[in-house]
Order: sequence, then structure tokens, then C-alpha cells
Amino acid sequence: MRPEETGQVLQRAADHAVAYRRAVGAPQATRPYADLLAAFDAPTPEEPADAARVIDDLARLSAPGLRAMTGPLFFGWVIGASHPVGVAADWLTAAWGQNAGNHVAAPAAAAAETVAARWLLDLLDLPRDASVGFVTGATVANFVCLAAARGAVLGRAGWDVEQDGLAGAPPVSILIGDDAHSSVFSALQFLGFGRSRLIRVATDDAGAMRGDAFAQAFAAVTGPAIVVLQAGQLNTGAFDPAASIIPVTRARGAWVHVDGAFGLWARACPSRAALAAGFDLADSWATDGHKWLQVPYDCGYAIVRDAEAHRRAMTIAGSYLPVAAEDERDPSHYVPELSRRARGFATWAMIRLLGRTGIAAMVEGHCRLAARMAHRLAAGPGVEVIGAPVLNQFLVRFGAASAGTDSDRLTAATIARIQADGVCFVGGARWRDRWVMRVSVISAPTTEADIDRACDAILAAWQAVRQGNGAAPPGL
Ligand SMILES: *Cc1c(COP(=O)(O)O)cnc(C)c1O
Repeated sequence: MRPEETGQVLQRAADHAVAYRRAVGAPQATRPYADLLAAFDAPTPEEPADAARVIDDLARLSAPGLRAMTGPLFFGWVIGASHPVGVAADWLTAAWGQNAGNHVAAPAAAAAETVAARWLLDLLDLPRDASVGFVTGATVANFVCLAAARGAVLGRAGWDVEQDGLAGAPPVSILIGDDAHSSVFSALQFLGFGRSRLIRVATDDAGAMRGDAFAQAFAAVTGPAIVVLQAGQLNTGAFDPAASIIPVTRARGAWVHVDGAFGLWARACPSRAALAAGFDLADSWATDGHKWLQVPYDCGYAIVRDAEAHRRAMTIAGSYLPVAAEDERDPSHYVPELSRRARGFATWAMIRLLGRTGIAAMVEGHCRLAARMAHRLAAGPGVEVIGAPVLNQFLVRFGAASAGTDSDRLTAATIARIQADGVCFVGGARWRDRWVMRVSVISAPTTEADIDRACDAILAAWQAVRQGNGAAPPGL
């Protein structure tokens, strides 16, 4: 491409992006996959196309199927809002095209990552000499941390898993809460720890590990062990009792890993930090950049106290790869990938933008907004908020006074109605064998007015369902 064409096509993409972000607000009705597939579907292109046309087509074809995840009224799953400054940093990341595996090849990328890692450890108040791998999200962060855990606990038992693999290795006991996130079970599965071999520990009503159940299960453990704790349960925001579990567990040689995809950020907020107290005593932590820090997708962090165990689990070497000196950090030594996106830039930009006080204020603001929303919804007739929100997540049931299955149907119908109305977006889940509406307040642009608007829309949808106007969703 000629230089002026390069400028034009990048500018064009920027124009489309700006127009989208200006317009994004209410979730509206997002067209389903089948419609989008039909729109995108075309024979394999035989001939080159005009550059600007490609970008225009992409924007036009995608528009009907874009969900308003960056908007203020999106409360589904646990989804950050891809802050404009993070997006801008990410554009530069893509434009610079750095292969960020190695600090000799891409020094700026490696330096931004090193400094962003230091800032993260400071903000989350974790051991300052822990190592940090910049990965795609908490799922891979869990995988990386648990790979380090596997190597370390087997190493203490005299087995070198990095050299000799798992076949013939001493068995590893893995204790995990019954309400842990599904991605941790996946990460363990990737590492050769099959699901049926895990020791699942009973949880309380909010989904936090029960201390007595843990003590009982752990007392029966002999040999190498890994304990997986959770900071922030997906549905309730609950925290496992880290302060009482971690010291005894580590004293007996077990490795404690924490899945804190969003909940670990309570540690960056003085008014909520007590919830996540004691988690810093663990051996490793997985958390996300693309949730509470509002970094664009995809971005997560694998943090390990024992940097050597981390590096051993992930290390990669080749005669063509420059060798890092002792005090130089190669990004690829702490992640599964070799060639990789320079994720440090967007993280650096978001932390630089918000600062310690800005992050604390955002976390506190979301928790307050969640409490406000729960309070307003609970005042609705026949609406039950299940447990007061401790953080930014809570669950709601509609028609709570009705018999169990009927309330399931009413709850699902209300969720479907809310989604169809398109004022705000919420999703559903099964919780304790019942259908619930999940609310996550974690989008940077959400204001009190947005919360009130969402409450009005949710209560109106429920009212319509109660009066028999709600379409029953398929399958219920
Ligand atoms: C989101 C989440 C994960 C998975 O993180 P990804 O970024 O989606 O890979 C793991 N654990 C918890 C508690 C989460 O909320």
C-alpha cells in the first residue's frame, strides 16, 4: 500500500470506531448469529479488494450484530467496557505491530509490560517480587499459575514434571470450592488433572468455601497438594475464607492458587479491601485486565510468588532467540505463547489514566451502584434479591412467592422480556437448582441515572410478565 493509503485506511477505521462509540448506549436488539452469518457469508474471495472498501464492509456487516458491551446499561456476565483510552493504546499496539515475546526484539513492549506489572502488584498489594505473565484472560492466567503450581508441588516430592511429564508422577491432591468458576476446572483439565479427580469442597449459601468442610477435606490429604481459592464468585461476588485457610495450608507444603478474575480488585479499593484480606498470602493469583480495569479484550494476568517456578513452567528456548540476562525480563517466559500481542501497552495506559485513586473510586462506585440497584429491585412486588450484594454482583428471582418451578419460568420469562425490550442487558443462570437473573455492575460509564433507568426497565418487564404478556422463553 502507498503511504497515503495506509493513512486513509487507518483513519477510516478510526472514523467507524468513533461513530460506533458515540452511538452506543442502550443494548437494543442485537441481531442473532444466524442473521450475521448470512450477512457475512460469501464465497472465498478470488481477487484483491480495495482497502477502504474492506474496512467499510466490515463495519457495515458487523453493525447489526454488535452487542453494547461498552455501554452503560450492560449488566450481563462480568464484562468490562473497553475504555476509550485502553482502546486507543490498543490501536497503537496493533499499528506498531510489535511481536512482544522478547525484550531484545521489542524493547518498548517489554519495558511497558515490566512497569505495568510492577504497578499491578502495587495496586493489588501482592508480593512486589512476584512474576507477572500478560495473557489473554483469567482462564489462561489460571492455567499458567496452576502449571507453576504443578511443577512446584511435584518438584518438592522429587518429581520433575517439566522434564518427565505426568505419567508415573506422584498423585497431586487438588482441593477446590464447589462454586469455583468453570474456567478453573478447564485449566486443571488442560494440565492433566481430570475433573473427577478433584476434591470439591462444600460451600455456603453465597458460594464461599466452608472453613469446616475445607479443614475436614484437607486433613485427609497426604502428598503433593494444590488448593484453589476464589476471590469473587461469579454470581454472588463471595470470597473464600483466605485468611484462615492459606497459612495452615501453605505451612503443610501445599500451593495455594487464587482465582480473582474480578474480585481481586477489591484489594485496590480501601473501602472493600477487607473482603479480599489474606489473599496476598497465596502462591499465585489469576486476574483480568479486561474486567474491572476496563482494558480492551483480551487481557489477563498470571501472577506467581515463586518467579522461578513460573518461569520453569512456561519457559521456551531456541537457538535463534536472544537470551535474557539475569535481570532482564522476557515477556514470553511467563506465558504459553511465543509470538504475542504487546498487552503491556493498554494495561500501562489504563493504570496511568485512572491512577490508584481512580481505580479505587471506580470499584467503590460499582459496588455502590450494585447495592442501589439491588435495593430498588427488592422493593418491587414479588421480586427477591438473593443475598445483599457484598461486591458488584447479585442475583434476582421473580415471582418468589410462587412455587419453585413457576418462579423459574417467571424469572426466565422476565429476563427474555428485558432482553427483548432492549433498554438494558441482563443474563440468567442456574443457582442452587433454580433459575436466577444475574446482575454484574462493572462497566466504567455506568451512572446512577443508568441504574435507575435499568431498574425501571426491569420492573416494567416483570410487571408485563406478571400480567401474562411475557413470552415464555423456549425450553422452559
Ligand atoms: C471471568 C472469570 C474467569 C474467566 O476469565 P476470562 O477472562 O473469561 O478468561 C474466571 N474466574 C472468574 C471468577 C471470572 O469471573
